[in-house]
Amino acid sequence: MSPIAANLQREALANIAAKLRPLASPPRMIFCSTQQCYRSFGGRGRGIAVFGLGVVIAPESWQVYIVEHELLHMLQAQELGLFGRERSPIWFREGMAFSVSEPPDFDLPDYARPFVAQYDEWEHRVGRENVWDEIRRP
Ligand SMILES: [Zn+2]
Repeated sequence: MSPIAANLQREALANIAAKLRPLASPPRMIFCSTQQCYRSFGGRGRGIAVFGLGVVIAPESWQVYIVEHELLHMLQAQELGLFGRERSPIWFREGMAFSVSEPPDFDLPDYARPFVAQYDEWEHRVGRENVWDEIRRP
């Protein structure tokens, strides 16, 4: 792995551990430097989380907040299970990933803004330390 990719990986894992909680077993991470690489993993958008495989980062997406975003989806699966994660509302899944990874405003897509707003309002109410217990509530 390139030193740049290794640094991104280390920094993103440390940030997530500090902001929420650590990933128990850090997933395999693939940093593509070509579109051919990224497409070969079925990549679309900026990065993808492939449960059971790992995180694949697009060539133009070597930014720590994008790596964090995909790792946050892995953390959701760790905490809620794959099925629990699938059942959780999209404002939670994507709102958390976009909010906690703190992208610069120009890199927050319009479709994600309502999810972030709803997640932030909810997290503010329940407290970040309680988000997993609260989202598991029936
Ligand atoms: Zn996402």
